[in-house]
Order: sequence, then structure tokens, then C-alpha cells
Amino acid sequence: MSAPKIEIDPSYVDDLILRTASFGAYGETGVWRTVYSPEWVGATDQYSAWCDEAGLEVTRDAVGNVWGKLRGSEPGKSIVSGSHIDTQRPGGRYDGTLGALAALIALSALKQQFGQPRRTLEALSLCEEEGSRFPGTNFWGSRAITGRIAPGDPESLRGYADETMADAMFAVGLDPTRIPEAKRDDIDSFIELHIEQGPILEQADLPVAVVDAITGVRHYNIKLTGVQNHAGGFPMDLRNDPMQGFAEIALGVVNTAHRFGRPAVTTVGRVVAWPNGPAVIPRDISFTVDARHPDPVQRDRLYAYHEALMREVANRRGLTIEWDYFVDHPPCPSDPGLVRTLQRAAKGQGIPFMTMPSGAGHDSQQMANIAKVAMIFVRSKDGRSHTPEEFSSIEDIVAGIRVLAAALHELAY
Ligand SMILES: [Zn+2]
Repeated sequence: MSAPKIEIDPSYVDDLILRTASFGAYGETGVWRTVYSPEWVGATDQYSAWCDEAGLEVTRDAVGNVWGKLRGSEPGKSIVSGSHIDTQRPGGRYDGTLGALAALIALSALKQQFGQPRRTLEALSLCEEEGSRFPGTNFWGSRAITGRIAPGDPESLRGYADETMADAMFAVGLDPTRIPEAKRDDIDSFIELHIEQGPILEQADLPVAVVDAITGVRHYNIKLTGVQNHAGGFPMDLRNDPMQGFAEIALGVVNTAHRFGRPAVTTVGRVVAWPNGPAVIPRDISFTVDARHPDPVQRDRLYAYHEALMREVANRRGLTIEWDYFVDHPPCPSDPGLVRTLQRAAKGQGIPFMTMPSGAGHDSQQMANIAKVAMIFVRSKDGRSHTPEEFSSIEDIVAGIRVLAAALHELAY
């Protein structure tokens, strides 16, 4: 049976993107819309209204996620699609928001073209993902759905403006004691459409990708300590200089990731020298190493190489080294069956695509605790994201939504 062609109206897509971007508009093309802000309330209300207009049953859960349900004729668990509606400070129009809108547009198109599905479909606007108002939220919307917000979290979580999450929730009429009610155990599959936020699709000259895994990530916090001394008085052969050790480690870890090849990445993003004086051999260097790989075995190899190098350099140079990691997410593989469904959907719609891992974290990682997950990427211009300059063309976005809708059609009709 050949797949039916899914019709998506580009002007409807463009209109929804621009109107959503007006909530928290920042400069020409930016958006500044943090969770539970007045702009967030506006965008969330608008999303609910559009779901309602599309004939979906609209509900809002205890943390402000919006659900638009297209009820199936048969009982059973839901097939859900969506993403987050909050942004960076400022971010662009597409990160997160595009996935929430894509789900709504796909369900609306399916309902118009094919009527009621056999299985229940739901569009989802997740309340928060970016950590841009409360740095410790760590996927607030999807954590509520998966039942992973601990009692006391809303009171202890503090924002950049020093307010608590509980206060921010009360201010928009949400009661933090009711968060456990947001938990769902009736979701079969979650498909998230998102912009790529990298240059790979543009380099490959392709509009969309099927995502087969979300990368594993570890942030090492490292401190190398030597002996602080006069930059003129100490001969080179008698120094315990942590800056030399840092330089060797920094170059070594990024070279290791280079030699691994794609999709391994390692970044030294932060370094603090003490005392940071021009005529002083430093006492210590604190720095970070962010290392990522989507394959669990390769990830362990990458981390082992980095740790072996750090130990070896410190020993050879007479330095002490300590590290810990404040982020350590395992890789999240997509469900192989959903990946095949998405690949078939792209082929059936005649849309060229590639299959690739995600180097960034996404709500799908949380949803994977309760459902099968997979993602669709849409090409990002110049790979830009987390900036007002992020851009994806309407043609590419429509292609991504058609892949999503065709996959939902295969699963639900
Ligand atoms: Zn995002």
C-alpha cells in the first residue's frame, strides 16, 4: 500500500510561527519567553486556542503543559508529539516552539484529510526545557509527565532573579502540590520534531533527518594544582606548573575526539587560572571538559581516554588532579521501530533525508523513561541556534511536518 500524500499549507505554518514569536518578541527575530512569564502565558493560551480551533480536546496539566487530543476509535495508549514552548534569553523562533506547532499542524491536517484515527493522537506543548529562568529545572515539563519531580523541588529550586519555582507557579495560577497529577502512564510513543541546531544537514544539502539517538554527555569539573612561584626565579626544569599540564590536557582531549571522528565531540569551554598574574607560575587551574558520544560503548572509550590522559599528565608533571562530573547523561537511543517508521514516512512522502544522532539534549530523553521515542530534525541555517539568528525555511519545515504526519498516519490509522 503506497503512503497517502500529506498536504500541509505553508502559509498556515508561517502564520503560526510568526504569531507565536510575537509572544516575547525580542528585536527583529529574537524571542525571550521564559517559563511562567507573561509572554509564556500568552503563547500557552494561544496554543490552547489553536488546538481548540483544530477540533482537538484541550487540557492543561499541573505544570502548564498543554495537551490537544485527537481521540481514537479504539482504546489504548496515546501516540504523542510535541516539544517545549519556552526559549533562551533571548533565543529564536524555532527551538522547541517548532515541535509544539508541528504536532498541532500535523494532527489538524490528519483530522481534515483522514478523519478520526484508530489510535489516540496528542499534540503537546511542554512548559519548560531551556533552564533559562531556573537553571536547575532540567526538563521541567517532561519531568512532570514522567513523574520525576521530587516533593520539595518547587520550593528549593531558585531562579536567576532568586524567586522559587513554587512562587513562579502560584503567580500563574498553578499549584505546585498538584505536580504529581501531571504524571502519565498511558503514552505509547513520543515523536519530537526539532531544529537540528547544527550544520550537518546543511552540509549534506538535506531538509530533514531521522534521529536515531540522543548523545550521552558528561561535564567534567577538573582542578590541576601545582606550586605557585616567581616567573623569573624558577628554572623551567624545576617547576610544577599546572598551566603546562592544562595546556597539554586541553589539546589532548580535543585531539582524541578528532581522532574518534564524528559523532564524538569534546570541548574545553571554561578555564580559570589562579592567581591569574602575568609574572606568576599559577597555583591551580580549574577547567571543564564536555565530552559526548551517542554510542554507549564508544562513549565509555572516549571517557576512559580522557581520564587516562588527565592522570598521566598530572603524574608526569608532578601536579595533583581532582575531578568530578556535575552532568552525566547516558546516551538515549531512539526506538528502532519508530526510526524505521519515520524513514518509511520520509520515503513515502518523497522527502530526502539522512539518519543521524542528536548532539544536543532534548525532552525526548525524559519521555524515553515512559514511552518509545524518536525525533525528526529540520535543517538549521548555518547551524545557528540559541540565538535570534536561528532560521529554518518554510519549505524545510513543511517537509519535516509531512514526515511527522505520515509517521503518525502509519501508527494511528
Ligand atoms: Zn529545544
